[in-house]
Amino acid sequence: MSEHDSFVEIPFENRHQCWFCAEPAASYFSFPHQQHLILDCQHPTLTVPSCSECANAALKAKVRNIWQVEQQVKKFLMQKYKKDLAIGLNWTREELANSGFEGGSFSGFQRSAWFMYEVAKDRVNFSGWPLVLDGVEIEKDNISDSFTFDGVCYPSIEEAIESYSENFRLDAMFLRQILAKIGPEKFAQAVRYCRLYIGATPLEKSRALRDL
Ligand SMILES: [Zn+2]
Repeated sequence: MSEHDSFVEIPFENRHQCWFCAEPAASYFSFPHQQHLILDCQHPTLTVPSCSECANAALKAKVRNIWQVEQQVKKFLMQKYKKDLAIGLNWTREELANSGFEGGSFSGFQRSAWFMYEVAKDRVNFSGWPLVLDGVEIEKDNISDSFTFDGVCYPSIEEAIESYSENFRLDAMFLRQILAKIGPEKFAQAVRYCRLYIGATPLEKSRALRDL
């Protein structure tokens, strides 16, 4: 699916905004995407407008749906701008205006600090508009990550992969690649197949993947 097909609808008042932080959107972000192999995303591929900074942070999020990506992007922004955000904890606008910093080495700080604080705060607080694709709203509440296998309900398929890989000393990435090819519903076969290649070389494994 191309970015064009998966682009969500954008309300008029948000037409130039990043879905994550409301800054001007110079880029876009699609999820799921190639850089993070995902097996159990329960919504169709969604593309949202994004500023470059949020798009870069979003690409690094190892999560399973776009709302979890949003959480990770907010964590990133809070971490990156924690000094700016702390200004609002340490000062009020009036205190800063009357701080006596003008004219000295801190006059630049005084001029820009409150503005920087407000920009950072607004970005972190912004909540993206509802995601609508082809006229259908993608329901956030219906998204469940859990994966049940062999009577165990895992928070997600990732925990199942980790658990089995650890237990059977499997190559977790190889197992993930097999699952991506044959589908998570064939988890048992994937584990069995993976066990046949314990100790195999990367070349043997990539051949095995091709043979599937
Ligand atoms: Zn942004």
